[in-house]
Amino acid sequence: PTTVPTDLEIARNAALKPLDEIAERMGLGRHLIEGYGEHVAKIKLSAIDELSDRPKAKYVVVSAVTPTPLGEGKTTTTVGLGQALNQIGKRATIALRQPSMGPTFGIKGGAAGGGYSQVVPMDVLNLHLTGDFHAVTAAHNMLAAVLDNHLYQGNASGLDLHSITWRRVLDVNDRALRNIVIGLGSRTDGVPRQSGFDITAASEVMAIFALSRSLQEMRERFGRIVVGYTRSGDPVTAEQIGGAGAMAAIMRDALKPNLLQTLENTPVLVHAGPFGNIAHGNSSVVADLIGIRGGDFLVTEAGFGADMGAERFFNIKCRASGLVPDAAVVVTTVRALKAMSGRHTIVPGAPLPPALLEENPDEVHEGGANLRKQIDNIRLHGVPLVVAINAFPGDHPSEHAAIAEIAASEGARSAVCTHFADGGKGARELAEAVVEAADEPAEFRFLYPDEASLREKIEAVATKVYGAEGVDYDPAAARQLDTYERNGFGTLPVCIAKTHLSLSSDPALKGAPTGWRLPVREVRASVGAGFIYPICGDMRTMPGLSADPAAHHIDIDADGNVLNLS
Ligand code: ADP
Ligand code: MG
Repeated sequence: PTTVPTDLEIARNAALKPLDEIAERMGLGRHLIEGYGEHVAKIKLSAIDELSDRPKAKYVVVSAVTPTPLGEGKTTTTVGLGQALNQIGKRATIALRQPSMGPTFGIKGGAAGGGYSQVVPMDVLNLHLTGDFHAVTAAHNMLAAVLDNHLYQGNASGLDLHSITWRRVLDVNDRALRNIVIGLGSRTDGVPRQSGFDITAASEVMAIFALSRSLQEMRERFGRIVVGYTRSGDPVTAEQIGGAGAMAAIMRDALKPNLLQTLENTPVLVHAGPFGNIAHGNSSVVADLIGIRGGDFLVTEAGFGADMGAERFFNIKCRASGLVPDAAVVVTTVRALKAMSGRHTIVPGAPLPPALLEENPDEVHEGGANLRKQIDNIRLHGVPLVVAINAFPGDHPSEHAAIAEIAASEGARSAVCTHFADGGKGARELAEAVVEAADEPAEFRFLYPDEASLREKIEAVATKVYGAEGVDYDPAAARQLDTYERNGFGTLPVCIAKTHLSLSSDPALKGAPTGWRLPVREVRASVGAGFIYPICGDMRTMPGLSADPAAHHIDIDADGNVLNLS
C-alpha cells in the first residue's frame, strides 16, 4: 500500500495555473487583478460594481455538527465541493477565512484544507498571505495609541480609565500578554493603567473588515467603535478621539479580497478571519459580493458547528451583506458523532482513543442527536441542506451507513465524500446533491427581527438553536443589556460567545442536551462590527501555546521551503 503524502508534499507538487487564468474562470478581467507575488492576487473592489449585472451564483454555506477539538473537515469539504462542482460542469468559486498565525504555530497547524482538497500555495496562505492580518493588527493598535495619547493629552472626552474596553492585539499565541500594565515610567511615558492583548482574529477591526460592503462603510464602522465609557456611562467612540480615519487608511488595501486556487485550479477567495466564538467566524462580505457574480456556485465556510458559525452566517453576515443562501452543507464525521455519544474524550495533540476507532455504528447512532439538532438549526432558517459524510481512513462502511440513516430519518439528503483522498471526484455525489438542494425554492428567514429586544434575541438563539430551556443573566450582564438598549444598540444582532464543543455552554454536555439554562455572565458590544456579544463561560481571546506547539517543529530547509506545516 502506498502511504498518503503529507499535505505539504501534495501542495508542493500541485500544478498551479497563472492567476489571470483563475480570475478569468470567475469572469474577472486582468484589469481587476493586482498581482502579489507569483501565486496570489488581490481583486480590486471596483469588481463589485463592474460585475453587478451578471447573474447571481447559488450561494452555499458549509457548516458542521458539533466538532471535536480536531475539526471535522469543513474547510477540506468546502474545497472538495468547489472542485467537485467544477468536475460536474458547474463554475464554482470558494470563499474562505484566512488562517490566523496563532493557531498555525499553536495546536491546529495550517487551515488550507487537507489531502487532495487544499488551497495552494498553502505555506503562503498559512503564513502572512498578503499581510491583511498585519494591517488589522496595525489599525487596531493605531487606535490604542490614539486612545492612550488622548488620555495623556488631557482626556477631553472624560473617559473613565476603568471603563476602557479597547485593548491591543497581536497575531501570536502569547499568554504572557493577556494582562499587562502600560504607561509605566516617567510622566511623559503615558498614563499608567492595566490593559492587555488579544489575538488579532479577536479584534473588532477584523470583524468590521469582514462585514463591510465598501471602503466607505468600513470607515464609518471604524468611527462607531466604542473604546470605553465616561464615568456617567456614555460611550466614547473612535470617531470622537480621532482614530477612525487613520485606521481606514491602514486598512485600505486589506479590504481587497485575495485570490488563490485549489489543487484543481478552482478559484478561491481568502479574506478576513474573525474569531468563531466572540466574533462571527465567517470570511468577508466583499469577497462574497464578488464571488456571487463569479459563476454558478459560491461555496463558503462558516466556523465551528451549525449552532455557531452558520447561525452567525445567517443572522449576522447575511444581514450585513444582503445576500441570501440557497443551500447548506452539514459536514459530519464518524469520530464527531462517536464523540457526541459521550463515550470518548479527544485530546488535541494526543492519538485518538483506540476504542473510538473500533467499528461501532451503534455509537454513531447514540451521538446522532447532535446531527439531528444541527440539521434542525439550518432548517430554522429555511435553507435546504445536504449532510456531507466526510470519510476518514479508519472509518467503517457500517458507520457511514449509520450517518446516512440518521440523515434519511430527518428527510435530509446525504453523501459519503472522499475528497480528502481523491480530490474533487471524491465529492461528486455531494456536488450533485448540493445542486439539487440549491434548486429547491429558497425560503430563507432570519431567526429574529431587528426590532426584537436584545434579551428576546439572546433567548431566541438559546432556546431555538442551542436547545436551552431559558437564559439566566448575572446582575452585571443585565445592567449591561439595559445600558446598550438605552444607548440605542438594541437593534443590533447578537453573537453569543460560548464553547463550540457542545450545543450547550458546557463543553462536557454531549449530543443535544436539554433541560439546561444558558448563563450569561457578561455582555460586550462590538458596535462598529454591529453586534452585541453576550459571554457564556470562559472565553479566551488570547490563546496560549501548548507544551509542544507546532512552533517547535515548523522550520525551513536548505532551499528555503517551509517544513512541517500541516
Ligand atoms: P474544519 O475546517 O472543520 O476545522 P479542516 O478541514 O481544517 O476542518 O480539517 C481538520 C483537520 O482534519 C485537518 O488537518 C484536515 O487535513 C483533516 N481532515 C479533514 N478531513 C479529513 C479526511 N477525510 N481524512 C483525513 N484527514 C482529514
Ligand atoms: Mg476550517
